[in-house]
Amino acid sequence: MTDTMHEEKFEFQTEIKQLLHLLVFSLYTKKDVFVRELVSNASDALDKMRFLNLTSPEAGGKDIPLEIRIEIDDKHKIISITDTGIGMTRAELAQNLGTIARSGSMEFLKQLAEKKQDDDLNLIGQFGVGFYSVFMVASEVRVLSKSYLKDEPAQMWTSTGEGGYTIRDVEMDKRGTRIEIQLKDDTAEFADAARIEGIIKKYSNFVPYPIYVGEKEANQVSALWTKPRSEISDDEYEEFYKFLTNSFEGPATTLHLASDAPLSFKSILFLPKTNLEKLGMGKLEHGPDLYAKKVLIQHNCKDLVPDYLRFVRGVIDSEDITLNVSRETVQDNAVLRRISRHIVKKLLEHMADILAGRRDDYIKFYKEFGRILKEGVATDYDNRQRLAKLLLFNSSSSKDREELITLNEYMDRMQDGQEAIYYLVGSDRSVLDVSPHLEMFRKKNVEVLYLYDPVDDFVLSQIGEFEKKPLKSADQASPDDLKNIKSGKDEEKERKEKKPETLAFESAFDALIARFKDVLGDRVLDVKASERLAESPCILVMPGGGGGPSIQVQKAMSMIDSNFQMAKRVLEVNKDNPLVRNLVSINKNDPSSPLVTECCEQLFENAMLMEGILPDPSKMVPRIQKIMEAASSQVKS
Ligand code: ADP
Ligand code: MG
Repeated sequence: MTDTMHEEKFEFQTEIKQLLHLLVFSLYTKKDVFVRELVSNASDALDKMRFLNLTSPEAGGKDIPLEIRIEIDDKHKIISITDTGIGMTRAELAQNLGTIARSGSMEFLKQLAEKKQDDDLNLIGQFGVGFYSVFMVASEVRVLSKSYLKDEPAQMWTSTGEGGYTIRDVEMDKRGTRIEIQLKDDTAEFADAARIEGIIKKYSNFVPYPIYVGEKEANQVSALWTKPRSEISDDEYEEFYKFLTNSFEGPATTLHLASDAPLSFKSILFLPKTNLEKLGMGKLEHGPDLYAKKVLIQHNCKDLVPDYLRFVRGVIDSEDITLNVSRETVQDNAVLRRISRHIVKKLLEHMADILAGRRDDYIKFYKEFGRILKEGVATDYDNRQRLAKLLLFNSSSSKDREELITLNEYMDRMQDGQEAIYYLVGSDRSVLDVSPHLEMFRKKNVEVLYLYDPVDDFVLSQIGEFEKKPLKSADQASPDDLKNIKSGKDEEKERKEKKPETLAFESAFDALIARFKDVLGDRVLDVKASERLAESPCILVMPGGGGGPSIQVQKAMSMIDSNFQMAKRVLEVNKDNPLVRNLVSINKNDPSSPLVTECCEQLFENAMLMEGILPDPSKMVPRIQKIMEAASSQVKS
C-alpha cells in the first residue's frame, strides 16, 4: 500500500464493539434486516441530495439521477448497494461509521439482548445503529463514498467488524456511496437476486427512489399519501407504517387526512401499538416527517405535534410551504402553525372516535400512551377539555380494577342534585374501598373516581371543571356538598329507625370530645362530632370543607422536603360507632381512665394510617399491645 492512499487505522468506539458482538453472537433470526437498514440509509442520503439540488445553487451533479442500485456477484458472494446520495467525506465516514451518536442506545439494546427478545432487537433501526446490522451477514464490508462537496476526494472505509476499521483514498467517478458486502459462508444464500428483490418488496417498497436489483426495478416508488383513501388497502397502510418506523409491528390505528382549503395538505398519521418509552428507552426522535410537494424537508419534525402526542408517527405533505421552511421553526411559520393546530385537533377527534366505536382498542392504546397523553392537560390549554374527554378512570361503582369509565359516563350516572365530580387518590382499589372519606358518598349512592396514578390527582386539578361541574377530591368535600342529593334507601331507613340521643349521652359525648382535645393537643386543629361517617370511628378532614393542597400533594412535598409540615386537620368522631360509644361510657365513669387516653391516641393514629401517613411504630406498637391486654383481660374474667 502506497502513501498516496493515505491509509489510516481506527479503533471502534467501545460501544460499537459491544454492539457488533451482540449482533454477531446473539440468536438473531431476521438477518435480512440488513438490506432494509442499508437501503434506508441510501434513501436518507438521497433525500438530502434532492433537497440540496432544489435549494443550493452551488451543488453540482444535478443531472445525476437519484437512485439505488443493487448488484449481486453470485460467484464471489458479494452484494453491493450503490446510491447517488450526498456521500461522505473522510471525517464523516469516521464519525458516522465508528461511533454511536445517540447515547443510551447501546444500554437499551444490551438489555433487550439479555431478554433474548428477538422482536425487540428488530427495533435496531430505531436506535441510530442500523448500519452495523450488515455485520450479521458480512465477513468484510467496504464503504466507498464520494461527498457531493467539490474537492472532497473519494474514500474507502473497510472493516471485518472486529476491533476497528481503516479508511483510505479511492477512485470514484460519481458522487454517492457504494457498500460492498462480502458475505460469510453461512449467509451466502443472500447472494440471490430473487431473494433480495423479495426483501425490498417486503421492507422497502415505499422508498421514494427507484431501487434496481440488476436491471429490474424492485419497488413501487409512489408517495402513498397522495393517493385517494379509497385506493389504499389496509395492507398498504400497514406496510407503509412498517417502512416508516423500521419496525415489524403494524400500527394500532391509521388516520389519513386530505385538506384542500383553507390549508392544502395531505397526511397519513398512525398511532403505534407499543410505547417504546415504557420499554425503558428515553424519549425517541419523534414527530411526523414533513414534505413539501413530495420533497422531504425534515424527518421527525417534532414541532409539528406537541410533546404529549410524541408517539404519533406519519407524514405530512403540504403544497403551501416552500423548501425554505427547513430553516425556520414551526413557530416561525404561519402555515405550519395552522397545519399543526389542525392536525392536533384531528388526532384528538380520531382518538375520541376510537373510544366511541372501538373501546377495547382504545383501552389498549390508553394503557400504552395514556400517561403521555395526560401531559397535554397541563401544557395544551386550548385542548384541555378535549383531552379530558379521552381520560379513563376506575371508580367506586366499577366491578373490578379493570373496568374503566370516562368523565362523560360518570356525568351520565350522577345523582340528582350532585354538584361536583368526585375522585380520590389511593395506591389500590382495596385501600380506597375502605377509606372513611367515602362513607358519606356511599350513603348517598354517589360514585367516586378512583385514581391510582398520583399524576391523575394533578391532572384533574388542572382540568378544574368538566362540562360545568367542578372536579373535587373526596377528601376535600364536606357533607354540605352532598346536602341537595336525595338520600339513598339505606340512609332513609336508618334515619327513621334512629332514636334521638338522650341529653345525658350528648353531654357524655361532649366530655369524650374534650378528652380527645386534651390528649391530642396541637396535633389537630379541632375535634368534633362527625356527620359524614357511617361506620368508621374517626376521620381526619380539612377545616371548612377543603381548599389548600390535597393530602397526596402534601405527602409528595414532605418526601421532597424533610422540613415540610403537613397541614393540621380536624379530627371528626362518629357518635354511632360502637367503639366510640364504649369510650363515652368508660370516660363517663372514670374521667382519667388510661385506656381512654390510649384509645384517643390510637384512633388518631389510625386515622393518619388511613390517609397513608405512617405514625411512629416505636410508640404505636406498645400502645396497641397495652390496649389488647386490656381487652383480653376483660374476656378472661
Ligand atoms: P441512522 O441511519 O439511524 O443515523 P445508521 O447506523 O444506519 O444510523 O447510519 C449511521 C450514519 O451513517 C447515518 O446517519 C449517515 O450519516 C451515515 N450513512 C450511512 N449510510 C450512508 C449512505 N449510504 N450515504 C450517506 N451517509 C450514510
Ligand atoms: Mg440508518
